[in-house]
Amino acid sequence: MEIAPGIHNIVTDLEHATGVTNTYLIVGSGGALFVDAGWDRPGEARARIDYWTKLGKPPVKGIAITHRHAPHWQNAPALQQACGHPPIIASFAEKPEIEARMAKAKVDKPVRDGDTLSLGNLTVEFLDAPGHTYGSLAIFIREKRALFTGDNVMGTGSSVVNPGEGEIVLYLQTMEKFLRYDPAVIYPGQGPVVADPRGKIQSLIEHRRSRERQIVALLQKAPQSVEQLTAALYKDVKPGVAHLARNQVKSHLIKLEQEHRAAAAGEEYRLL
Ligand SMILES: [Zn+2]
Repeated sequence: MEIAPGIHNIVTDLEHATGVTNTYLIVGSGGALFVDAGWDRPGEARARIDYWTKLGKPPVKGIAITHRHAPHWQNAPALQQACGHPPIIASFAEKPEIEARMAKAKVDKPVRDGDTLSLGNLTVEFLDAPGHTYGSLAIFIREKRALFTGDNVMGTGSSVVNPGEGEIVLYLQTMEKFLRYDPAVIYPGQGPVVADPRGKIQSLIEHRRSRERQIVALLQKAPQSVEQLTAALYKDVKPGVAHLARNQVKSHLIKLEQEHRAAAAGEEYRLL
């Protein structure tokens, strides 16, 4: 459906049932751009192609993939085939990570921070946005001050930063960068549109800062392991997402190590 003039979100019934990863189609006077592509489940690629066909097949200038995680790129090869072979776009840093996972197509057009793409009346600016992953890409429509954040900002809740895939130091820098762009609206990788971007971004920064304060306070009492810290911080974690809770604690400890504020001795971390 068209969620704002020229901004479409193609979300299938299946996605409503399982948690929504958004596939945006930005349509300007001179062409269109997909932002992310959705899960490759039966009928999902077809639904996206049918939607584009019903719009009158606006010439697709690219398929931008915000980052390596599967629901963001899985239909990109099918969309590329069906929509006149537009380039698949991602950041230079994320290109090898996406290509390692996406067997059926390449990232044809890696972009640098500040690169632009014209859709006629709309100017797309690509932003390096490391944090959730090292090569996460954000997309800014200058004329609308609309920011597409991938999973760095979610429609509800906070984002995960998993060790090895991203870093909290970079995540916080990206949040500050997003504030400098002063978006009027955020279109997140998952979940509903964010109408109060500044409040949302500030709450994400504060969430990380308060988590760090909690970890520091626990370590002030005694050196502790990741398991101990996770048990103290996350009381009611469902078994399926326990690893994500542990990963958030690990990511915070990595930040404290980078800042020479904590160090590991065996399994335990202590403050310096
Ligand atoms: Zn993700």
